[in-house]
Amino acid sequence: MTVHDASQYKVAKEPFYRVTAGEDALYKAAYARRMPVMLKGPTGCGKSRFVEYMAWKLGRPLITVACNEDMTASDLVGRFLLDKDGTKWQDGPLTTAARIGAICYLDEIVEARQDTTVVIHPLTDHRRQLPLDKKGELIEAHPDFQLVISYNPGYQSLMKDLKQSTKQRFAALDFDYPDATVEAEIVARETGVDPDTAGKLVQIAHRTRNLKGHGLDEGISTRLLVYAGQMIAEGVEPTAACLMTLVTPLTDDPDMRQTLQAAVETFF
Ligand code: ADP
Repeated sequence: MTVHDASQYKVAKEPFYRVTAGEDALYKAAYARRMPVMLKGPTGCGKSRFVEYMAWKLGRPLITVACNEDMTASDLVGRFLLDKDGTKWQDGPLTTAARIGAICYLDEIVEARQDTTVVIHPLTDHRRQLPLDKKGELIEAHPDFQLVISYNPGYQSLMKDLKQSTKQRFAALDFDYPDATVEAEIVARETGVDPDTAGKLVQIAHRTRNLKGHGLDEGISTRLLVYAGQMIAEGVEPTAACLMTLVTPLTDDPDMRQTLQAAVETFF
């Protein structure tokens, strides 16, 4: 059996996370019962930061997996590898988390195929077990193990959505971009720009968020605002910084770029 060093998965330092609606207390109660939790919300609004913060607060190791459509059940559970002495089993991240009692965070779970997603089912009910079919082993999850997934409702389509049989195994917390004052505080704190600049960046984001569904798939996220703040704090001229971090990543449509650039120029 693989020997795991749980300490490498510990969150070493308190991550900065601004609680907005008592989500920390709700999560803590869910964790006390080891309830699987789903974090719902648009990209870059603080879901991953929240899990890191909660893992730190609860003193649990955290194992994060970025899900994608090529991911197979073996990528989560583990596989036999060939080495000079023959075959050797290697635990996947989900198995490692179940063994050491980590919080396992499956980021953007919808990206994974459904035959991959079903491997988490036995871990989410009273069984709290993980069958390693290829190895012929049945793991009982460590008492501290918890499963957390993130989900962006904006991307959902009929082809790509979680099955009800998966959804209904999780309690869910809604996430969204924080209100303007709090978001400006986060941007200032994360980047070192002054409150006035942070406030302007947030106002630019608000304009683009109104364009969601009207030419933009998503508005500017808190993550991109943090990038903009970082560039400005590095001494880059604000409109150039905003172009690089808020406009160019968001869209390739020339008209939409012009609209976004005009929004930037209103404030800087
Ligand atoms: P998600 O997982 O939702 O895609 P992240 O958690 O990576 O997004 O958030 C992106 C960035 O936004 C973080 O790195 C952090 O700088 C900032 N952020 C968003 N919300 C918060 C918050 N409530 N407190 C602190 N930072 C936040």
